[in-house]
Amino acid sequence: MSLTQLNATELARSLRAREVSAREVVDAFLSRIESEDAHYKSFLTVDAEGARRDADAAQALLDNGKGGPLTGVPVALKDNISTNGLRTTCASKILDTYVPPFDAHVVERLHAAGCPVLGKTNLDEFAMGASCENSAYFPSRNPWDTDLVPGGSSGGSAAAVSAELAPLSLGSDTGGSIRQPASLCGIVGFKPTYGRVSRYGLVAFGSSLDQIGPMGRNVEDTALLAEAISGHDAMDSTSLPNAAISAAEVKQGTLKGKKFALPKELFADEIDAGVRECVELAIETLTREGAQFQEVSLPSIAYGVTTYYIIAPAEASSNLARFDGIRFGPRLEGEGHIGNVAETRGKLFGPEVKLRIMVGTYALSAGYYDAYYLRAQQVRALMAAEFEQSFQEFDAVLSPTSPVVAFPIGGLVDDPMQLKLIDFCTIPANMGGFPSISLPCGLSNDLPVGMLLTGPVMGDEKLLQTAYSVERGLGRDYRRPPIL
Ligand code: GLN
Repeated sequence: MSLTQLNATELARSLRAREVSAREVVDAFLSRIESEDAHYKSFLTVDAEGARRDADAAQALLDNGKGGPLTGVPVALKDNISTNGLRTTCASKILDTYVPPFDAHVVERLHAAGCPVLGKTNLDEFAMGASCENSAYFPSRNPWDTDLVPGGSSGGSAAAVSAELAPLSLGSDTGGSIRQPASLCGIVGFKPTYGRVSRYGLVAFGSSLDQIGPMGRNVEDTALLAEAISGHDAMDSTSLPNAAISAAEVKQGTLKGKKFALPKELFADEIDAGVRECVELAIETLTREGAQFQEVSLPSIAYGVTTYYIIAPAEASSNLARFDGIRFGPRLEGEGHIGNVAETRGKLFGPEVKLRIMVGTYALSAGYYDAYYLRAQQVRALMAAEFEQSFQEFDAVLSPTSPVVAFPIGGLVDDPMQLKLIDFCTIPANMGGFPSISLPCGLSNDLPVGMLLTGPVMGDEKLLQTAYSVERGLGRDYRRPPIL
């Protein structure tokens, strides 16, 4: 078995046992990226030199007995996470030449943990999309079938882990962007409680919804990466005081007596029949293992997508105002100052980003604010309250992650509404700031189906434990894409 086939936990063990060096691990992934990523297009930038430098630093930690649980295990980063001295594009032409002068908090944490950074992965421009087709550079491809999308917006991060080009990656999730691509690529993706991972250095999309989170081949790997990147950060005013997530007890859980709520709204006709059957089959298996399930109704779910498409664009319209061709990235010349800004923004933002800036600006404008933004915030509060209520009685809310499996590249470009409805199941967790994890639960038409578990605020450790016992209960080892 080659090094790149090992998962993060196995790699960390081999590194600690001196069976392999940090350089060898990094070189194995770099050479696989070089020979194979042409098929998947998961990376926008590969940082071979930086990764080797990081590997040497990791080796020094290991040699001094100062290594942690992931020391020497490489990570790929979504390209909306700022990296000091390394191009960070958000897959947008407007940041084509932008090189941040600082590291995001999570990058500092990865350096401290001794995790080499392999490079930056593709995404939908500014994380706006669900298929990676909105990247201004190229779409990424699903390792299960390269004619299909990997999902989005963290599509490159999901494809990289699934294609064994990286054992772990980071994504960001505003409405489902970690969990949905994880589901479509057959890996695990976790969005922590809002405020447990610092957003300092994450290029902001919808600041009240955005959260950075880990992606890995199994729950344990993913939990270890969550532990490595989480923790309070004074540079993020929404960072929680007890932010650190512990992975120490992730294997301690049991399915016996665990109670799951099944919202009937998330098993309705919007869900593809094959996906629903797959999740229902998994539920039967978990029932035999001692878990309990009960159908509930969370009616506000029906308004999730509509509410999200007011709040996220509103916040984006404000956040993206800073890209004016003066402070970041390239500048196009026009008539005077206003002309420069208009040329730059008009030509270098892609169509989906412009659409959202316009929708958001409209929703926030005088006279419409109460009708749209304020109203959306009220629905958001209602949705969070309905979920909180169910957490009084249940350990987690369970549903499919995505209503569909991976679909053909180009297949939904003429149906933007359908593309937006894909986040139907994942949006509620962002609305309430809840921790939420997607893990593989079977196949439909030979393509991966994800199961979504959502828990209460600050219940990350318990949710990860539950996910670990679900993974065990389903008795499925990590399944490699058949074409690898
Ligand atoms: N697909 C959603 C959107 O297009 C969510 C994206 C995200 O979570 N970043 O906005």
